[in-house]
Amino acid sequence: MTAAAKEQAEVFVQEIDKSFEEMPCFSQKKLRLTFEYNGVAPTRIPIILLKGKSARPRMWIQAVVHGDEYDGAISCLRLAERLDLHDLNGALILVPVMNPSAFFAYQHGSPYDDNVNLNRVFGENDNHSYSWEYGRFLFTIIAAEADFHIDLHGASKLNTIARYTGTANMGNACDKTAYDIARRTGCDYILLDNNTQSGNNRGRLNTALSMRGIPGIVFENGGGLSWTEEAAENHIASVMQVLFEAGYISQGEHWPESGETFDADDYIYFERDGLLIDYVPIGTWVKKGDVVLRMMNVETMEIEEILATKNDCFIFCIHNAAVCKKGNIAYCLARKTEGL
Ligand SMILES: [Zn+2]
Repeated sequence: MTAAAKEQAEVFVQEIDKSFEEMPCFSQKKLRLTFEYNGVAPTRIPIILLKGKSARPRMWIQAVVHGDEYDGAISCLRLAERLDLHDLNGALILVPVMNPSAFFAYQHGSPYDDNVNLNRVFGENDNHSYSWEYGRFLFTIIAAEADFHIDLHGASKLNTIARYTGTANMGNACDKTAYDIARRTGCDYILLDNNTQSGNNRGRLNTALSMRGIPGIVFENGGGLSWTEEAAENHIASVMQVLFEAGYISQGEHWPESGETFDADDYIYFERDGLLIDYVPIGTWVKKGDVVLRMMNVETMEIEEILATKNDCFIFCIHNAAVCKKGNIAYCLARKTEGL
C-alpha cells in the first residue's frame, strides 16, 4: 500500500520549502514531484522553482491540468528562461505538465480511471480513483505553497474556445483580488465560477483555492494537438500582466480595464456518435432552438441538428473535431452577469 495522497504531498511541501530556503536569491532550480498510486506507474511531475528577492510571496503557475491542452506548457518553459529574476519580488513555481498520465495518452483526463476530468475533483469528496487521489495530492501542495495561482488552459484537442479569463465567485475576498487583476489583462471575457453548475461541472481548482483564501486566475486560449506560437505567447503576455498587477514584477505598464463578465451557464453534450458537418463560430449569440452544430449519424446516415437550449447566451466553447462521440462536450453557453 502506498501512503495516503495527503501524506505523500506533505513530503514535497517540505522539500519545496527547504529548496526555496537554501536557494540563493535570483536563482532557479528544477525539482520532480512523485505521486504513487497502487497498480499504476509512479506519476512524475516536473516543476521549476524561481527565486527572486525573497522566497515569499509565491505564485504557482501551471499548465496541462487537462492532458490535451498544450500551449501553456511551452509558456511555462519560456517564462523560466525569460524572467528577469532581479526584478522578481518573491518566488514562482512553474509546473508545465500537471497531469502527465493524461498528457502522454493525448487525453483530456487520465487513462488510469477512464478520462476523469482532473479539474472537477477539487474540493469535492466522493471518489478515490486515481484522479481524485492525485487531485488531493496536488491540492495539498498548492494550498501550502501558493499565495496566488494561475492556471493555463486551452480548447483541448476536440474543441475551439474563446480567449477568456476566469476567476472564482465564491463570496471570498480573494475572488475580488483575482477579478480586479484579471480585468487588467486585456481580456474580452471574464467567466465567473461559483461552483453551482449541475452534473459533472463542479470542483474546479480555482473555486477550491478560493475557499482557502488563495486568489486564482484561469486563462483559456489555443487548442488542438499542437501548441502554437500565438497561443503560447498570449499565455505569456497574460501571466506577465498578472505578475505586474499583483506586484511580483515592477517592469511593465498598467493596461486599461477590459472584459465583460459572464457565467458559464450550460454545457451540452453529444447524445450520439457521428461525423461533424458544421458548427457556428465562437462568440455567436443564440436563442433557444437555433442550430448550433450539425452532424451525420453514421448508423442511420441522417443529419442531426444540435440546438441551442437557452436564450440570450453566447457560445464560448464548441466541438470542432471531425468525430463526435456520445458524452463529449458539444458546446458551452455563457450568459452575461454582474461583475464583482
Ligand atoms: Zn482545460
